[in-house]
Amino acid sequence: MHVTVEPVARLIEEFAKLPGIGPKTAQRLTFYLLRMPPETARALGEAILAMREAVTFCAECWNITDTSPCAICRGENRDRSVICVVEEPLDILALERTRGYKGLYHVLHGAIRPLDDIMPEDLKIAELIRRIERGGVREVILATNPNVEGDATAAYLRKLLGPLGVRVTRIARGLPVGGDLEYADEVTLAQALEGRRAME
Ligand SMILES: [Zn+2]
Repeated sequence: MHVTVEPVARLIEEFAKLPGIGPKTAQRLTFYLLRMPPETARALGEAILAMREAVTFCAECWNITDTSPCAICRGENRDRSVICVVEEPLDILALERTRGYKGLYHVLHGAIRPLDDIMPEDLKIAELIRRIERGGVREVILATNPNVEGDATAAYLRKLLGPLGVRVTRIARGLPVGGDLEYADEVTLAQALEGRRAME
């Protein structure tokens, strides 16, 4: 089916840009919204705009936040000598749910994926190095995802951080292999943190 009504075609096109949404789903969502009461559709549109306008990235750790530095970086009971490096802001939510971790974080915003042309300079790696060079950091925990890209990114960071004189650890295995941190349950995640090991 080809939609010729311009606003409808436009929304289908926008939905189809989202991850996990193919053209069929984009059409279905659009026609669902079309049948909704106008105020429900308006609330959705306004929520998207408000989110985009109010949310920014923490200048310290690159977590999503509405104030920079973020609440975690400002937290008075956080251990500033430990930085846990993750791929995405969602990973911080997962790790915070374990309630066991009291250090700070650093969000890379992805992993190194040469095949998709995502190189180290596309990630917040230089920012991480600058944080460590400022001093006061004792340990960096590499909590990138337990898959090929996450492991490769951890190995790359290990080499880079080596000369900086910090202890570099990698979260333990036991997480679902190939899975994402954000899908792991609290107990598994707490154990993976607890069982972290120094990287050779
Ligand atoms: Zn922060």
